[in-house]
Amino acid sequence: MPELIDKHAAYIRLKTEAQTHECYESKEAYNRAARIIDQMRTIEAEPARHGYWIFGNTNTSSWMKCSECLKSQSGQTATFSYCPNCGAKMDGGADNG
Ligand SMILES: [Zn+2]
Repeated sequence: MPELIDKHAAYIRLKTEAQTHECYESKEAYNRAARIIDQMRTIEAEPARHGYWIFGNTNTSSWMKCSECLKSQSGQTATFSYCPNCGAKMDGGADNG
């Protein structure tokens, strides 16, 4: 799955990097890269959701639910790496992101 970056953050990072170079050619290369980033087409993107499966059981059955949307899933869903309800990637939660 492609990963996206923040265009504005990339632009600022390149402009900041340009300031650290004394050499005109290096400075201009970073400034040119920043201009290219600035001119690139953008898409609207939602931040990725990260979660984990919460498992539990009662006397009669076991259950699991998504840590992000808290929707219960059937037992077989545990093998999925994404929540079929909200799309959260099951890689351990936001701290893993
Ligand atoms: Zn979910």
